[in-house]
Amino acid sequence: MKFYNTMTREKEEFTPRDGSTVKIYSCGPTVYSYAHIGNMRTYIFMDELRRALKRNGYTLLHAMNITDVGHLTSDGDSGEDKMSKAAKEQKKSPYEIAAHYTEVFLRDIDSLNIDRPELIPHATDNIPEMIEFVQGLWDKGFAYETSDGIYYDISKFPEYGKLSRLNLDEQQAGARVEVNEEKRHPADFAVWKKAPKEHIMQWPSPWGMGYPGWHIECSAMGLKYLGEYIDIHTGGVDHIPVHHENEIAQSCGYLGHEAVHVWMHGEFMNVDGGKMSKSLKNCYTLAELKEKGYSPLDFRYFCLNAHYHQKLNFTFEGMDSAKKSLSNLRAAVKKHKGGEGEVNERMLAAFKNRFDEAVNDDLNIPKALGILWELAKVKTPSDAVYRLILDFDTITALDLDKEPEPEAVKEPEIDPVLDAEVKEQIALRAQAKKEKNYVEADRIRKALADCGILLIDTPQGTTWKLAD
Ligand code: AMP
Ligand code: ZN
Repeated sequence: MKFYNTMTREKEEFTPRDGSTVKIYSCGPTVYSYAHIGNMRTYIFMDELRRALKRNGYTLLHAMNITDVGHLTSDGDSGEDKMSKAAKEQKKSPYEIAAHYTEVFLRDIDSLNIDRPELIPHATDNIPEMIEFVQGLWDKGFAYETSDGIYYDISKFPEYGKLSRLNLDEQQAGARVEVNEEKRHPADFAVWKKAPKEHIMQWPSPWGMGYPGWHIECSAMGLKYLGEYIDIHTGGVDHIPVHHENEIAQSCGYLGHEAVHVWMHGEFMNVDGGKMSKSLKNCYTLAELKEKGYSPLDFRYFCLNAHYHQKLNFTFEGMDSAKKSLSNLRAAVKKHKGGEGEVNERMLAAFKNRFDEAVNDDLNIPKALGILWELAKVKTPSDAVYRLILDFDTITALDLDKEPEPEAVKEPEIDPVLDAEVKEQIALRAQAKKEKNYVEADRIRKALADCGILLIDTPQGTTWKLAD
């Protein structure tokens, strides 16, 4: 298998450190509000990775944290704690807020057929380990104290910035970090924050009452649950310049070596060509998509059409087409169920090889999906084809054995000759309309209707179907 490693900027042959078990860490959700579909894209990417590794015979030990504390409103250490803010606004305890959004998140990922990681630790259950980590950094001289917390001193880690390859000025420009006069360097970050009395979530520590910095959560939980060496760390590309640089600095400081072998990052999902943002009211949730008539797997299909390295632009037209394609694919698969046609074994083996090659080539799922489509279109209905498609579906996880929408089943096989014929008539009708010759245009429509062919005018042009 080959994966693109953000650290080396190269596609590398992958083998886990211990040969058989792959240790994975994924930055999980901050559970102070609903996860949006952009977040879900990143977890679908994480799931494709899991499925591909399993298909290659590996055992997985995968941890994804639930951030149920801290994570301030900026990339840095300033601003109000998101969890406390939501708790105040909704007049609930932070634990109630976190429990509610965690439950919705887990339900959402289940509905997307995202295989749950083996370990889903909560930050609040791991505070002693975080304190121990901070203490270790302190003892080794990587941390210093200010009036509001304990900070990591990046001057002690000359390799700081090696993941993003940005110089510190560029990094600061990209992040929303407010000036803090007491910091030795603007990019120094809090590993522990001292809590003012009114702060809702706080724990005793050698530095008084406080709460952990966001970045330390991942380093400490990664170490506790996976050990000193992690094979693959995943997250969205937004985490490269600050969060993951900080994780690297912390782990190198504490352990004296890199913790992570391969860094993998999923590209962003935009909406209508722009950023997803609460103020633009375009941060859709899965529940909102469901209200509009799209199933979670329609959304999964939409995501699988783009490689995880590509930006993906979300539009409702795109969702319509994904919904239709998924249903048509299920209809094509259904035709093979129980089919008694003979298919050449060598041909099936070739399909399997091509499919696996695509998956193992840095998760080229769009290509794998194309190969699956080709297989589904094999003319002879064959149960062997059906079984191979279901085998492929252990990667795509689109429930391809599910019933298609009724229209997809009814869709007849279109004879290409007939199709070309009708398209010619459609072109003649369009020309007549352009020339305002509506009599001729209507004549063509009626003549086709008499042959059982119905024209459908859409904003994208005219299509046709056979009358029922
Ligand atoms: P957060 O809860 O903000 O830490 O985000 C959870 C995960 O979703 C992280 O891995 C982010 O990198 C990722 N993420 C956030 N916004 C988007 C987006 N628009 N598209 C894809 N992934 C995203
Ligand atoms: Zn993280």
